[in-house]
This record gives sequence, structure tokens and C-alpha cells, in this order.
Amino acid sequence: MESTAAILPSRLLQVALPRPIPALFDYDASTCPHAEPGQRVRVPFGRSELWGIAWRWRTPETDGRDPMAPDRIKSVIGVDPVAPTLPASWRALVEFIADYYQQPIGEVAAMAAPPAIAATRAERSHRRFRATATGLASTPELPARDVGRKLLIALERSGDMSEGELRALSSRAPVALERLLAAGWIEHALPGVPAESAHPLSADQSAALEALQSTRGYAASLLHGVTGSGKTEVYLRLIEAQIASGRQCLLLVPEIALTPQLQARVAARFPRACLHVMHSEMSDGARAMAWTSAQSGTADILLGTRLAVFAPLPRLGCIVLDEEHDPSFRQTEGVRYSARDVAIWRARYENVPIVLGSATPSLESLRHAMDGRYAWLRLNSRAGAAKLPDVKLIDTRVFRTTEGLSPPMVKAIESRLARGEQTLLFINRRGYAPVLSCPACGWAAGCTRCSANLVLHAADRRLRCHHCGAEGPVPKACPECGNQDMQGFGRGTQRLEETLTGLFPAARLLRIDRDSVRGRDHWQAQLDRIRRGEVDLVVGTQLLAKGHDFPGITLVGVVGADASLHAADFRAQERLFAQLMQVGGRAGRGNTAGDVLIQTAQPEHPLFLALKAHDFDGFALRQLEERARLGLPPHGFQLMLSADAPDLQTALDFLEAARRAALALGVGGVRIYDVVPMRMVRRANRERAQLVVESRSRPDLRALLRPWVTNLYRLRLARGLRWHIDVDPAEV
Ligand code: ADP
Ligand code: ZN
Ligand code: ZN
Repeated sequence: MESTAAILPSRLLQVALPRPIPALFDYDASTCPHAEPGQRVRVPFGRSELWGIAWRWRTPETDGRDPMAPDRIKSVIGVDPVAPTLPASWRALVEFIADYYQQPIGEVAAMAAPPAIAATRAERSHRRFRATATGLASTPELPARDVGRKLLIALERSGDMSEGELRALSSRAPVALERLLAAGWIEHALPGVPAESAHPLSADQSAALEALQSTRGYAASLLHGVTGSGKTEVYLRLIEAQIASGRQCLLLVPEIALTPQLQARVAARFPRACLHVMHSEMSDGARAMAWTSAQSGTADILLGTRLAVFAPLPRLGCIVLDEEHDPSFRQTEGVRYSARDVAIWRARYENVPIVLGSATPSLESLRHAMDGRYAWLRLNSRAGAAKLPDVKLIDTRVFRTTEGLSPPMVKAIESRLARGEQTLLFINRRGYAPVLSCPACGWAAGCTRCSANLVLHAADRRLRCHHCGAEGPVPKACPECGNQDMQGFGRGTQRLEETLTGLFPAARLLRIDRDSVRGRDHWQAQLDRIRRGEVDLVVGTQLLAKGHDFPGITLVGVVGADASLHAADFRAQERLFAQLMQVGGRAGRGNTAGDVLIQTAQPEHPLFLALKAHDFDGFALRQLEERARLGLPPHGFQLMLSADAPDLQTALDFLEAARRAALALGVGGVRIYDVVPMRMVRRANRERAQLVVESRSRPDLRALLRPWVTNLYRLRLARGLRWHIDVDPAEV
């Protein structure tokens, strides 16, 4: 080792490359004097070249691996002149994910890095200035044509102005501004002054806000309050205080393209703050700009989906994560991670407070709150005059449904229509019918690439696979027996829409699901139509459940929820409860109390009884007890190794070898399950299987995880096989 070190290049850079290999790669940077960690660098790789991120200088301490033989080390080709240099805190976050989730570091880095282009438009400055007392006193002394004098007079007139407004006054304003700043004649005006005067807080809100503001450094809190209880109001107050003291806030939400209301509300509250939005549906240019603004410290508030958790914020003051229970925070393809858990880690690393908000907290977070690891802040009633909706169950064994609707449901809709009130019908299935089949011979239209039925879409007479996107025309006759009377079984949004049109021909009806929404503007327009009362009946999926406020909706009807009661995943009930509580929360937010009607063949089911009583705690405690008994999360911890290949046997063989490797490690306290094919075996022409490992002790599980994954990389891979490790999987 010592003799090699002597002839190794003196500047040896370790680079993260987007390759499924859990290691950094060594490159000689002697020819690149400006190269430094955090930069985007171009390097030779195999017979081609790659972009990667310079991670750190290689020193004997930083890397246990032996260096490559000096004659095999290649040189860095160059440094990207426009990409921002990523700070050490960003690299620490990536390293945490690579280690905790056991994902290849280069792939994590590639996912967490900003888009590889320069911010296209120069960042509009959001600095604001105001004149100081000395500045105002000195104004008359300045020569009449002085630019500084002109700026000071303008500032005196308007109180404070943005840099852009001041620059518009003179081409020499930028220089003058710096001069006035240096002289102490002007100062930065902080952007925290809220526009609309906020509501006076309720006692619960004040107590929560006080608790949140009393902490110093890292502290995690669970803000637990029913929909409409004023959680957002608490976030806004917290943000107001943070930006007033010159800090940046990170506000994370599960889905942003679908919740323009929150963005509008933040923007309206802080018209002078620099607000940037970041989500995956933005153009790379727009995202790069938001990133630059965040990293340069210009942005006061960064509002974004899970990928925003990676944006560097040098003045970070707090993190707010809304709807913390939402599965969208979990990335289930590519690099598997939970943005919620990463945000917690980041808050701790950067020593700032974090708030997780929800009406139906995940059992994981709830357990932390019960254990005292998170402060548990509760908002117990709806804000203002609004009341919780009245939840009623319709027993479909007594009140038989026709085309999916029971007589009491139809009557309730009729009465709303008569009163000019709005109704939302919730059905969590898009399309017309989930199965198209032949009543004569039993043939059903299946996807040739997946083990799943094709969904009938009546609007354009197509069959679509909701798993791989395959589609085709509806056959005129049964391909098995030639029967021409094919039928759609089951019910989706389109079919319910058709039924309602038949029942209430005069009602103005709107269907909202992934198929009906055409882009963000269209979506916004639809929401506006509902809010303006231009629609009487809305049929929608859970797209509508997320964080919208429709004061005119006084009835929410739930159709076809029973299927989820018996889903195989152990989190199915937790999700259903959260979802129904969310949709129910859409009812009666205005001045009129709302009703929620749930059709079910099991009105005695504890989940429905808890919903009826608005008893999240009771429901959650029972679920927690059951999980404790079974050793399931959050009372146990899981890993899932999945494999897919063109044929099932290849996937099974790999997982069997992996299972033997796990057993051979002889780690105690872990339960290694059998290898099983996935419930939906085939997806997009690949056959899939899985292996679950469970433990009641996280340290035991981690003792297995690292050496096991190291061994997995050494296993010989059959052609076409891919595998993934999923730590704390969202679904097993
Ligand atoms: P959540 O985020 O818990 O769903 P919001 O903060 O959106 O709740 O509040 C729900 C509604 O109540 C909003 O229209 C909000 O403006 C209003 N609101 C919030 N706090 C108060 C308050 N203290 N007094 C009156 N109205 C309030
Ligand atoms: Zn047939
Ligand atoms: Zn398919």
C-alpha cells in the first residue's frame, strides 16, 4: 500500500457515477487544477464518457478500498462550467440515503442532483430595500442629479421597494445601491410582512404555534388535526416568523401539480417573499432556476414535492411536510427512499425544526409521537364556524344498489340538487368497467404484457392496461366463442357518470380522474368551476381528495370502498381510512354542515364505525395493537428484495441464492421469509418475485442488511435479471 501510494497521482478525485455499483470511482485530477468536490465532472468510463459528481479527495482515511493500480487510473476530462457546485451538506444527504436505503451512491446522486443545465434566465433578484433614518436625513445633502438621491427619494415615498423596481429607475442603480448599502443609508427590508391580515388563531392553533416556536435547533413535531382544523394557517405563521428573521423555509407536499391552491395561498400571504416551486413535471430549465435560487440563498420559501428535499438551502430555518401520511412521499421506482424520513434526517443534520402535518398520521409517525420522539400537537376542531361532517353508513345488504347506487344515496343526491347544493361522489377506479368479459364462455380481456385485466374505457371505446399503459380497440366479438354481446363488469368513474346522467339529466355533471384531466391549466379550470358552483355533481377519484377546499359541497357519497377492506397489503386499511377521512373532509367546509354517506355491505366493520365516530385515535390504536402482535411496522421493520426477469424462474433462482446468502450470515433476531412470486406476477413483460426479511429490532435488521447487500453484488446475474432492495418498503 505504501509503495503504491508513492506513485499515485497527488490529486485523486473520487467521483459518483450513475451506475448500479455501490462505490465511488477514482480519477486523476492533476490536469484539472480547478476541480473540486461538489462539481459536475466529465470522466472516461469504459469505452465511453460519463458525467458524474466529484465527491471527495481520496485520502487513506476516506476509503477502505485499495486504490486502483496507478497505471489504470484515468484522468478527469473536464468540469461543467455552469452546474452549481453542490455543497458538503448535499453530499452528506446523498450518502445517508445510499447507506440507509442501500442504494448505489452514484444513482442516488444522479437522482438528487439538479437538472444538468444552467439556470436559463438570470434569477430576478428578490432583494428588497428601505431607507434608514440616516439615509433619509442625508438625502437633501446629495447633489440633485445623484442616482442615490433619486433612489432614496423613491424609497421614502414607497416605504420599501424591490431591487427590480429600483433598477428600473436608473441604469446606474445597481452601483448606487451597493454604495448606499455600504454607507448604511439603506438596508434590506425583510419579506416577512404578511399581506392579508391572518385570522386570529384559535386556542389550539396558538398552543401549537407556541410549541413549534419554543424549540431551538432540531425538533420534530407532529401537527395532528382534522381537515380544515387550520394546520396550514399554523404553517404559514411559522414560515412568517422564519422568513422575518432571514431564514429559508422548505415546504414539502405530496403532490403539487394538483394542489395549486396551496401555492396560491402561500404566494398571497407572502407577496414580497421569494417563493419558488419545484416538482417533477416542471421543465428542466424552471427546475434549475428554482434550484439556483434555493442554493444561492435567494429563495425565502421553497415549495415542492419529494425531490425538493434535496435542494440546498444555506439559510434553512425550518422544514414543513404536509400530509405526511401520503404514500407519494415514498419513491417506489429507481432509487427507493421516503422523502419524509429523509426530511427528518436532514432536519436533524442541519439542526432545524421539522413539522409533519396530517389529519390521519401514518402509524409510524404516530408511534414516534406516542413515544415522545416527536412533539404531538393537536388541533381538535375545525377552524372558524365549520363543523365536522355527519358520517352515515348505508347497508347495501338492506338497501340494494342499482347500477352501483342505493335508494338512500339517490335520494340524498336529489335533495342536494333541489337545494342547489353540490355533491361529490367518490369512486376510486377510473375507466368504465375494470373487466370486459364474455358472459357466454367466461373469456376476459387481459393484458398480454401483465397479469392483469384490461380496463374498458367507454368514452373512446378502448381497452387499457392501468399497469403498463398498453391499449387496444374493444373487440367486436369474443375472440374465444364469437359471442357479440360482450359485457363490462364492475364499475369505474365513467360508468358512474353515465348512471348519474341517466338519473339526473338536468344536473350539471363533471367527472374528475387521471383521464379527464388535461394538464395543469385544465385542472385548475375544473377546480374553479366546482368552486364557482357551475357544477352540481362531481364524480371523482382520490385526485379530488387531496387538499382542496370546496365550500359548496355538502354531500360526499362513497361508492365501492369495500374492495379495499380485503386487500392483501397490511397497510390497506390504514390507507382506506386516511382516504375516506380525506374525501369526507371535503364536505361542509363552508357555512353548511356536510354529510358523508358510505355504501357498504359491512357497516359493522370497525373501520367504518371509527369513521362514523371521527375516531382516528381508536382506529389507529387498534391497528397499532394488531401490528405489535404481528411484529409489523411500526412495531417491526422490513426489507424487501425484489427481482424481475423475462421469466419467473430466473427471478426465483436469484432470490433463492440471495436467501441462502442471507441465512449464511447467521444474523440473529431476523425472520427471512420464503421467496414468493409477486401478487401481480407479470408486469410489462417481466415476471416478478420477492423476498421479505423482517425483524422486531432495527439494529438486528441493519446488521444483516449491509453485508447481505454487499454479497448480493457478488452474485452472478442471469441474463435480463434485475434486482432491487427496498428498505422500509411501503407495500409488501
Ligand atoms: P387544514 O390545513 O388543517 O386543512 P386550513 O389552515 O386550510 O386547515 O384552514 C381551513 C379553513 O379555515 C381555511 O379556509 C382557513 O382560512 C380557515 N381558518 C384557519 N384558521 C382559522 C382561524 N383561526 N379562524 C378562522 N378561520 C380559520
Ligand atoms: Zn366467449
Ligand atoms: Zn399491461
